[in-house]
Amino acid sequence: MANKMRVAQVPNAGGPFQIVERPIPEPPAEWVRIKVQACGVCHSDSLTKEGYWPGIQYPRVPGHEVIGVIDALGERVSQWKVGQRVGVGWHGGNCGYCDNCRRGDFFACTVDLKITGISFDGGYGEYMVAPSIALARVPDELSGVDGAPLMCAGITTFNALRNSGARAGDLVAVLGLGGLGHLGVQYARKMGFRTVGIARGKDKEPLARELGAFQYIDSQTQNPAVELTKLGGARVILATVTAGDAMSAVQGGLGPNGKLIVIGAAQSIQLSPLLMIGGKQEIKGWYSGTSIDSQDTLAFSVMTGVRSMNEVFPLERVTEAYDRMMSGKARFRVVLTMGG
Ligand SMILES: [Zn+2]
Ligand SMILES: [Zn+2]
Repeated sequence: MANKMRVAQVPNAGGPFQIVERPIPEPPAEWVRIKVQACGVCHSDSLTKEGYWPGIQYPRVPGHEVIGVIDALGERVSQWKVGQRVGVGWHGGNCGYCDNCRRGDFFACTVDLKITGISFDGGYGEYMVAPSIALARVPDELSGVDGAPLMCAGITTFNALRNSGARAGDLVAVLGLGGLGHLGVQYARKMGFRTVGIARGKDKEPLARELGAFQYIDSQTQNPAVELTKLGGARVILATVTAGDAMSAVQGGLGPNGKLIVIGAAQSIQLSPLLMIGGKQEIKGWYSGTSIDSQDTLAFSVMTGVRSMNEVFPLERVTEAYDRMMSGKARFRVVLTMGG
């Protein structure tokens, strides 16, 4: 084991996971090496697994919900120390000098946009190396398993909501109560919004209320647009589902100047321009965020008690863990642990 590590790699697009031994990598300049404690299994890992993302070089280790401990520093890393706990999320780095970077739109870097587990090996393994710019500080209060899903599902919902323009007391609805939505409801509540959960089936109501929703709308038996309108109309609807028709069905529930924020990767959505014009509605997408946004997400989660509900698997059972996530049946996020 001395200088070997186990990782779960994808040998080629669409290929099966392989647990292999590799030499523990040395961090290049401005990168660090991380001993991984836990890594979430995100739906976007299918981009690597199935090869949907263009230009991936295989074999590749997926995983962009990483929590671990820095165990070696590359040259010119001054702001981090060995032994610090850090997280790595989707945004793995950017050039810093292209036009978009200089405007602060790091997610739109045109020169060197790095995505963890796609551009370089991610957290499905005992060790990984990551650019120091991609690191978020992890509070001691958060275990690896607790922290991991916050590095993508958490930051995406937290950051979308805190940048939504909604103010304390505003009506904010979260569409979907899955991996993203169960965090979205908690964040919305803790940010002080009048939080409404929308999902299919009466059986989800106790969960929605437990997570902090003051109202629940069952989209199977109720019309969510009508119900939201009765409540005054939503300032923001955070759409976490992957079904475009479910998103279309809530558009009419936006209040004046309301905003539909789309973070579920549906194939397509049908929207009514008439509603958009008459209500001065906005439709907006949201990208997770950078490492400081992750750090803010973790700190806020500790401060307010927001946690992901997780199903935990050891690295060896990566195939089962991935299939479970893809089945959509996990309650609610799947997390791999490295057992060391
Ligand atoms: Zn993700
Ligand atoms: Zn750039």
